[in-house]
Amino acid sequence: MNPGKALWLRAISLLIAAITFAASAYSQNLKVTLLGTGTPRPVMERFGPSILVEAGNEKLVFDCGRGATQRLFQLKVPFASLTALFLTHLHSDHIVGISDFYLTGWIFGRKTPLRVWGPAGTAEMMSHLEQAYQFDIHIRRDVDEKLPAQGIVIVAKDIEQGVVYQNGDLKVTAFAVDHAPIKPAFGYRVDYAGHSVVLSGDTRYSENLIHFAQGADVLIHEVIDPEAYRASDPLYNDVQKQRVIDHHTTPEQAGMVFSHAKPKLAVYSHIVPFNAQDLVAHTRKTYSGPLEVGEDLMSIEIGDKIEVHRTLK
Ligand SMILES: [Zn+2]
Ligand SMILES: [Zn+2]
Repeated sequence: MNPGKALWLRAISLLIAAITFAASAYSQNLKVTLLGTGTPRPVMERFGPSILVEAGNEKLVFDCGRGATQRLFQLKVPFASLTALFLTHLHSDHIVGISDFYLTGWIFGRKTPLRVWGPAGTAEMMSHLEQAYQFDIHIRRDVDEKLPAQGIVIVAKDIEQGVVYQNGDLKVTAFAVDHAPIKPAFGYRVDYAGHSVVLSGDTRYSENLIHFAQGADVLIHEVIDPEAYRASDPLYNDVQKQRVIDHHTTPEQAGMVFSHAKPKLAVYSHIVPFNAQDLVAHTRKTYSGPLEVGEDLMSIEIGDKIEVHRTLK
């Protein structure tokens, strides 16, 4: 082969490699990772509720339950790369990990303000958190490590139902769900480049959720198995247990939600109790479509097809 031709071939193969790399770096797929699929119960099997959604080069975190920061670190997701934190509601199991996320994320690389969107009360809660940690913030920012001052700034916003974030092909919509008496409580829909995922947050059967979930590729829904829950909790009395059950969605009800919303894939997360065994069987009474019971670190790649990966086993 003459040297000119060899050079051309090499140039073409480099170009193909560059295009392949660029395509993989800017995938049009949505990737969803369940960081924690549990509830307030501090078990090792399921960390607190938190979901990572990756769209292009944006990384969005929804809720920040116990262990979310450890899961992100475990996945080697740089804290500096996270776009924002979105909260569904202010129940402790969904927010108890924020301190870790806020402070540890700064120590390990965040150089720009932490953005937090959530229901009424979010901005106030975040300003109290900032005050609560003033001692540590002062030491690390002004005295000792001299970490970047902007990295520990909080930009928090109370949101209403509607589009809460938009950037290019990416759109995040908050919608009201029914978790009364915890009001407001939101679910979220993320649309990106023709793909979509809906997150229920905590809710009982919600017509509004079904409305906002129309046409979604993946619907991730909370669930409670009343019988298993009653048997599993020795501390609450029967009245307290019934209240908890009434705030959530049974598998039969979730099946009705899935049957109406018709996602390409339905997924359970925020599973009560954490060791519920019969979720699929109960759901099959009202829904016959694709269904997965979520587990921590399960990821769902949403592209032309939908792929589920379980990494804990
Ligand atoms: Zn809740
Ligand atoms: Zn919850």
